[in-house]
Amino acid sequence: MKQAARAWLGVLAIAAGLAAEPAFRLKNPVMSGNIQANPKRWIPGKLHLLVELPEAGAATDTEKLLEDRGAAVLSKFGGAGMVIAALDDTDLSDLELHSASVFDPASKISPLLDPEGVAEFYLIEFHADVSPGDAEAIVLSEGLWLRRHPDLLARHVLAAGGMDQIRRLVQWEEVAYVFPAADELISGLAVTGCAGALSENGQIGQYVATIGHGWDGPGRGAARLTYSFGRLADRLPAASVQAVIEQALAEWAAHAALRFTASAATGGARDLNFLFAARAHGDAYAFDGPGRVLAHTFFPSPPNPEPLAGDLHFDGDENWQIGAGVDLYSVVLHELGHALGLGHADRPGAVMYPYYRRAAQLSADDIAALRTLYAVQQEQSPTPEPLLLTVEGAPRSAADAVDLRGTTAGGWGEVRVAWDGPNGQSGLAVGSRSWLIRGIRLTPGPNPVTITASDGAGAQVSRTLVVVRDTPQLAPAPQPQAPAAPPASSPSPPPAQPRPPGTPVSGDTTAPSLVIHSPASTGSATSGASIRLAGSARDASGVAEVTWSAAAGRNGVASGTASWSAEVPLLVGINNITIRARDRAGNVAWRSVSVTRY
Ligand code: ZN
Ligand code: CA
Ligand code: ZN
Repeated sequence: MKQAARAWLGVLAIAAGLAAEPAFRLKNPVMSGNIQANPKRWIPGKLHLLVELPEAGAATDTEKLLEDRGAAVLSKFGGAGMVIAALDDTDLSDLELHSASVFDPASKISPLLDPEGVAEFYLIEFHADVSPGDAEAIVLSEGLWLRRHPDLLARHVLAAGGMDQIRRLVQWEEVAYVFPAADELISGLAVTGCAGALSENGQIGQYVATIGHGWDGPGRGAARLTYSFGRLADRLPAASVQAVIEQALAEWAAHAALRFTASAATGGARDLNFLFAARAHGDAYAFDGPGRVLAHTFFPSPPNPEPLAGDLHFDGDENWQIGAGVDLYSVVLHELGHALGLGHADRPGAVMYPYYRRAAQLSADDIAALRTLYAVQQEQSPTPEPLLLTVEGAPRSAADAVDLRGTTAGGWGEVRVAWDGPNGQSGLAVGSRSWLIRGIRLTPGPNPVTITASDGAGAQVSRTLVVVRDTPQLAPAPQPQAPAAPPASSPSPPPAQPRPPGTPVSGDTTAPSLVIHSPASTGSATSGASIRLAGSARDASGVAEVTWSAAAGRNGVASGTASWSAEVPLLVGINNITIRARDRAGNVAWRSVSVTRY
C-alpha cells in the first residue's frame, strides 16, 4: 500500500508504448527512459501523473476512487485522460488505468528552445497545485533571474538564464513545461493571458499540443460544423459582433477542410455556440468582472461532452471593441483554435500563444497545428456538389466599358471568381455566390472575357464570353473649334482632348468609366484608422472630378482624375464608401466599396 504511486513508475515506459489512441498529444513526447525513481521534489510526498483510462466514461468512478485515496484531479481531458497529483501512498495498482506516467524531464522542454541558449527569457509553467511562492523559489534555486510581470497567468513564472539552468530546472517534479517568452512579456507591456483552454474539468497544460482528434475523428479529415449565437456583447451592435465572428471562422476555414454554416438553433451537437455572459453563467467557470479572464472555450467532442463541446464563452463585463482595446476579433480568433481542438502554441507571434496578441490572420505555426488535426483542403474528399458557374451580361455594348455579373453554386469552401479580359485586364470579381465584375474596358469589336470560379478544394470552372463593342458612330458634325485654334501639332485631334473647366460639352451622354483598383475587393478589412482608395477614371470628354463620400456626411475630393487616389477615414465597423467620377458634360459614374474596420 505504502509507496504504491512511486512503485507504479517502474512500468511507465511499457504503459506509454501501449497507448494507441491517446486522448491528447504532447508537444514534446520524449520518453528518455531516464525517469528517476526518486525525482527532485520541492513538496515532499506528492507526484504529478499523466493518466489515461482505458475508455471514456470510466473517469467519474476513477476520479472518485482517486480522491478517496488522497489524489487530486487537476485537469480532465474528457473521459479518457487526466493529470493528477497523487500522494506517495496513493494506491493505483487496482485501478484500471491504461497508463500513468510522470513527466519525463526532457518532455518539459519546448522544442522551440535553443539548446545552446545562454541568455534567454523563458516562461516556466508549473502544475496547477503549486503555489506561486513555491514556483518562484524553485526557479531561484537554480540561479535563474526572475522577471515579475503583473499580467502573468497564475501558473507561469517569467525568468532569464541559460539552457544549462533550464535542464536542471525541469528535473524538479513541480515544473510542468518551459517555453519561449514573448517580447511583450520581457519588455513589461500590458498583456492578457488566456486562462480558458478548457476541458470538461480544468485548464489544459502548455505541454499539450492538441486534445482529442478534432471534430473529424482520428486521422486528418474534413469537418462540417454549425455555429450559433447566444446573447452577444451589449456594447457592440449584434451585426458587427456576428461579422467579426464570421470573419474569424473564415480565417480558420481558409486553411483546412472545415465548413461552418450558421444555425438558428442553439444547444445542438457539433455546434459552436458563441455566448457573452457575466459572472456565473451555468458552467463551472464563472467570469471575473472587467479585466483578467476574457473568454474560455471548450474543446471538441470527443472527448468533451456535448452540447458543451466547442462552445465559446466571452466575459460580458469586458469593454469589447473592434480594432482597439479588448479587441474582439483577436480573442475570437484565438478561442476558435481551442474550439477546433488546439492547445496553446509555444511560439511568440502565433495566434495560439497563451497571451492574446492583436492579430489579423493565423501564423504559419497556427496553420501547421491545425493541419495535425484536419486535412488541407486539396486533400479533401470529392466535393459534395460540383462547382457551377453562370454568367449573365450583355453580349453587345455601345459603351467603352461593361459590367458582368453572375452566380456560382456548389463547390467546397471559399469560392473565388476571377476574370481575364482584353488588353491584359484581369482581376477578382466582387462576391462569389452572386458576383459582379465592374468596368471591363472594351475595344471596338469582339472582346473575349474569361470568368473562372475556383473553390477551396482546387476545383475550377471557366466560361468565356465575347462582348462585342459596337463601333461608335462618328460624330455627325465635328465640334466647332474656337476661333483661336490650337497649334495643329497633331493632325488628328484625340477624342478625349482635355477642355478647360466650364466649357460646355455637348453630345456626351456617357458616364465616365470608373474603376477602383485598391482595395481589390469589397470584402476588405483593416485595423487602420483610414484606407487609401485608388483607381482610374476615363471619359471621352474628360473627367472633371473624382469625389468620395462615406457615412455620417464625410466626403472629399480625390487627388487626380484619370489616375486618382483618396485617403478615407474609417469608423470602427462597416464603412460603405462611394466614389463618384463626374465628366465635363455632367455625367456621373459611381462605384462603392465596403471596408470593415476591426
Ligand atoms: Zn487560449
Ligand atoms: Ca474578465
Ligand atoms: Zn463558460
